[in-house]
Amino acid sequence: MPTRTEDPTAEVTDLLQLLIRNQCVNDGTVSSGEEIRSVDLLAGYLAGAGEHEIYEPRPGRQSLVVRLEGSDPDAPTLMLMGHTDVVPVNPDGWSRDPFGGEVIEGFVWGRGAVDMLNLTASQAVAFRRLADSGFKPKGTLIYLAVADEESQGVWGADWLLQHERDSVFADYVLTESGGIQVPTADGVRLPVLVGEKGTYWSKIHVHGTPGHGSQPFHTDNALVTAAEVVRRIAAYRPQAQIHEVWRRFVEGLELGPDMTPLLLDPDKIDDAIVDLPLGLARTFHACTHTTFAPTVAHGGTKTNVIPDHVTLEVDIRTLPGQSGPDALALLREALGDLADVVDIESNDDPSTASAMDTPLWDSLGRVTARLCEGSALIPSLMAGATDNRFFRRAGSVGYGFGLFSQRLAYEDYATMFHGNDERVDQESLALSTHLWEAVARDLVG
Ligand SMILES: [Zn+2]
Repeated sequence: MPTRTEDPTAEVTDLLQLLIRNQCVNDGTVSSGEEIRSVDLLAGYLAGAGEHEIYEPRPGRQSLVVRLEGSDPDAPTLMLMGHTDVVPVNPDGWSRDPFGGEVIEGFVWGRGAVDMLNLTASQAVAFRRLADSGFKPKGTLIYLAVADEESQGVWGADWLLQHERDSVFADYVLTESGGIQVPTADGVRLPVLVGEKGTYWSKIHVHGTPGHGSQPFHTDNALVTAAEVVRRIAAYRPQAQIHEVWRRFVEGLELGPDMTPLLLDPDKIDDAIVDLPLGLARTFHACTHTTFAPTVAHGGTKTNVIPDHVTLEVDIRTLPGQSGPDALALLREALGDLADVVDIESNDDPSTASAMDTPLWDSLGRVTARLCEGSALIPSLMAGATDNRFFRRAGSVGYGFGLFSQRLAYEDYATMFHGNDERVDQESLALSTHLWEAVARDLVG
């Protein structure tokens, strides 16, 4: 068990290493994840700090709630939320053991080092330090180590809000990710993820007529039609949309009078991002477009049978303010005349966003001005989804934040999510620990 010192670096490093080694890999099946291992670890680490509650909607899928009850029932409540599960790895792509949790030249390596065991660990350490210092908040402070974030929160955040709302609801929620230092002409900017895109995952059924593979002339081959469907989706270029979060993000980046107007013009942005570093271009594109990625194809049974049915899956990501019917209309536009000959099934999980002028925003601004001199916050939109969406829908103000040192560059950081060689520097771990501690004192203390 980590030991206690004034400087949190060693303690948060130890805890992160243990979380990585627990290998709570969530492959999307109900029996995977086994977050119980990290709940055991964190409940032991936080023993004696606050009131503990463990929920287990399915065997092994545990989440831990730890509460420091506030003295004033009318004061706002704050939750620090970190997920304990991680996505699978392909060890071939890694230069280190993905579950070794090794420390090399000041970096902790392993699956989850940036998504998001780093923050799950630093939030726990901050909570422990607050409790040990005798912190008696006015508003309740909650730490939630949550299961199943990587597979839509079914056995985690979504379940908890549906079944144990009183235990987990908070006015303000802080979870991944954000807070990476972005250098600008006018000082460092720290993106706060105030919103995230929605998903409109779609399954496209393509039909044909079965026949013998030896006589393909003029057959109605579902696989051939499916190939054209995929081609059209890949070639589709929907119009960019400039929304308020994007506008404020771009203005905050201080990119100068040449670049800024291009990034705010829906007709010019596509050309403007082409020459940016790829990681950045992808992020900028995702933040301003509904995106369509064909990701799965199933079809055919045998080499000598013309297939009569192929299913395709398309990962569609929607923007703030966009509805399911809006996304479907775009998909149909992409498919053109093929839209009428296929069947489309979709699951609409819309984009969510929190307001930007809130006490939580102000608190983060005050705290980061001290921890990261000369910095300023900018709002940002996340291309992926986090558990924040459930809390925003339940009425919380939810932001994705953290704090990172300059050893982690914005482009590298983005590519490490679910990628190879995931790692985080120890300075960032210490900074995040200070951040959570300071925000708790500032906002609910
Ligand atoms: Zn995550």
